Order: sequence, then structure tokens, then C-alpha cells
Amino acid sequence: MNLAQKLMQKPLVLHLRKDLVRNLKRGHPWVYDDAIASRPDAVPGRWTLLKDKKGKEVAWGFYDPKGQLAFRACVLHKRALREDWVTARLEAALQLRRHLLADERTNGFRFLNGEGDGLPGLVVDVYGDTAVLQVDGEAPDGFWPKTDIAKWVADHLQVSNVYFKRRRKEQGQGEALVGIAPDHEPVIQENGAFFSVDVINGQKTGFFLDQRDNRLKVRGLARGKSVLNVFGYTGGFSVNAGLGGASHVTTVDLSPGAVAFSERNWVLNELPAEQHEGVVADAFKFFDRAMERGQKWDLTIVDPPSFAPSQETVPRAVESYTRLFANAIQVTQPNGLFCAASCSSHIPHSLFMEVCVQAFSNARKRGQVLDFRGQSEDHPYPLACPELRYLKFAVFKVA
Ligand code: SAH
Repeated sequence: MNLAQKLMQKPLVLHLRKDLVRNLKRGHPWVYDDAIASRPDAVPGRWTLLKDKKGKEVAWGFYDPKGQLAFRACVLHKRALREDWVTARLEAALQLRRHLLADERTNGFRFLNGEGDGLPGLVVDVYGDTAVLQVDGEAPDGFWPKTDIAKWVADHLQVSNVYFKRRRKEQGQGEALVGIAPDHEPVIQENGAFFSVDVINGQKTGFFLDQRDNRLKVRGLARGKSVLNVFGYTGGFSVNAGLGGASHVTTVDLSPGAVAFSERNWVLNELPAEQHEGVVADAFKFFDRAMERGQKWDLTIVDPPSFAPSQETVPRAVESYTRLFANAIQVTQPNGLFCAASCSSHIPHSLFMEVCVQAFSNARKRGQVLDFRGQSEDHPYPLACPELRYLKFAVFKVA
């Protein structure tokens, strides 16, 4: 199938106003509104040729006539503009994940990570025999031939169903592109741990696959420890702590559905029910109460949602992260472990570490860094595009 054939109509032509040629050549695929000379009207996702100020061809990609992210580059060289460029990238993505496909203890992974796999705005997560496709905005929605890509995924990854999940509920429910829409929650394995995944109602595509390696790390740290997992969602870290031999695990989340799910996932792994407690609570209030009561845990994990969806919200997000981390440090036993995470792309690694320094300082404790990690390897990103290196995960000993 020549997926690219359909995309490559006569391109719309845009001209750069800023000198972004080097950026693009280095692999940063984004061109913002203020860097192009004009914003012609066109359908979102229109195939587009980007030229520099002198009219030289720079990149081929697609256009968003409305959004700030006006152009996303797909192909940089004329010779790469072959009819099979999309298929070649799907094959490369598959190649990169061969070992995950061969891993009998893991069948939940990200197959396509948008820009990181050379397919801007296109995500496909695999949960056993179900794959979930998502697009990041109207332009990639208009551009990518979703059904053809879904068929390719079904043929090459041995999945029976490919479900298109819309990002926002108001855009309507999703739809099956191949097979049927999920009529049950697929149960996946992740490093031998079992998780039931709510594809239709869960967050993102249903599960946070980017934390896989970090969850395994926690499994290795948990033996004999009491563990507190705040912002626990469906219990990813909790189950791993349990499998690692934690003496007791507490999962805290604001969503009653998520907490109930974490309890189901705990039992699904045949862990003793009395060693897990799910608590429906706001994290800030939970910490206040725990501090009042003088409660302490040997290992604490804090993995909040993105508090900084934009640059303007960064200062407030920094305040919230600092407060949460300081609280978690305070309820960690002396010489215990504290794992801090942030998935906000607007908080770079350096700022994240500054937040941790401030949090330790506010808690009147000192931190010893044992590990500093990011998103799992099935979430690659172009080196030139650090915005897509979004996940931070640090392990500290609290002294
Ligand atoms: N650690 C999880 C992912 C966390 S996602 C994993 O490994 O799968 C963030 C979670 O924070 C969501 O489940 C959301 O319901 C929860 N949440 C958001 N705001 C919250 C708050 N104020 N207090 C507690 N939980 C909250």
C-alpha cells in the first residue's frame, strides 16, 4: 500500500519569515505562526511545501491554518519524497520495537510516538490485541490516512482491533478503524505485571506507558517497605511495588474510578488485598492530614498530572510541584526513598531539579540523588526537539 501517495497532492507553498532552516535540518519539525510569511486559508492538514526566504525548498509537511503550530515537517529532502515514505517510517518504528514485540512479559507499548517516529502528531498505543490511535490536533487529523494506517498496524502487529480515540469527549466518541470498538477492558502485561486498561474512558489512550521502566525501577526498590503512591491512577506504581515485595501500599487519587481500578489491578496480580489501601482524596489535602497525624512511609511516589499546559502557567505549576514534593519528603521516613515525577513539557529537566532542591529545602531535609530517568524507550524524540523529552523521574534518598 502506498500510504504516501494519497497525501502528496500538489503542495500548498509557505514561505519562512524567520531563519529556521538549520533547526529543521537538525530534526526539529515544528514551525510556529510567527515564523511564516503568510497564513493562507486551507483545510487543516493540507500537504505543504515550506520554502526559505529566497524561495529554496526546505521541507514538506502539513499545515494548520488556525493553530499556533502552523507547519509540521515530515520530509526534508527531495530524494526522500518517495511514495513509500510513510510505510518506511512505520517499518522503522516496528524495527525499533522488535524486542518489545518479542518480550513475552510485555504486550502494552507505544508503537508510534508522533514526531519521535517521524510521523508528527500521530500516536498509536498497543494493548494486547487492541491498538488505540490518537492524533494531536486538527491538522494531523486531516493529514494522516487513519484507516490505512490502522490496517497496516493490524496486519503487522497482530492486533485485531484498532480504535480511534478522540482527545476530547466533546469531539464525540471514538470509532473502530479496524475490527470492533473495545467491548471489554483489555488486560495487558507489563514486565509480567497485569493491568486492566480502560481504553474508552481512561486517561490518554488508557494507560501511561511512558512510566513502564520507572515502574520496574520502583519494583526493585520496594522490598519490605511501606509505600505511598500519590496520583496513583490505576495503580501502575502500586502493583509494581507490591510485586517487588512491599509490606503495604497506599494508592491516592482524586478519581474514585481510578482508585477502584487500582484495587482491581492489585487483586488481578494475586497480591493480598489487605496489603493495599485505595484512598480517594485530593493529594494536597491527603498530605495535610498525613502530616497532622504524623504518618510516614518508607517509599513515596508523586506523579502528578501536567500542571503546566502552557508557558504562562509554569510559575504556578512550579509552586504546586514544590509544595507537593516538600509534603511527600516530609512524610517519608528518615533514610527512606522519594520518587518525584513530572510529565509537563514546559518544565525542563533543569527546572525540575530546581523544584526538587527547593522542595527538600522547604522540608528541611537533604536529598541524595540515586537515579534520574525519563520516558521509556518506546517514546523516542528527536534530539533537536527537547520539548518532547517531557517526562522526568528522580529517585532520592531522604536524609
Ligand atoms: N502514576 C500514574 C499516572 C498518574 S496520572 C501511572 O503510573 O499510571 C495523574 C493522576 O492524578 C490521575 O489519575 C488524576 O485522577 C489524578 N489527580 C489529578 N488531580 C489530583 C489531585 N488534586 N489529587 C489527587 N489526584 C489527582
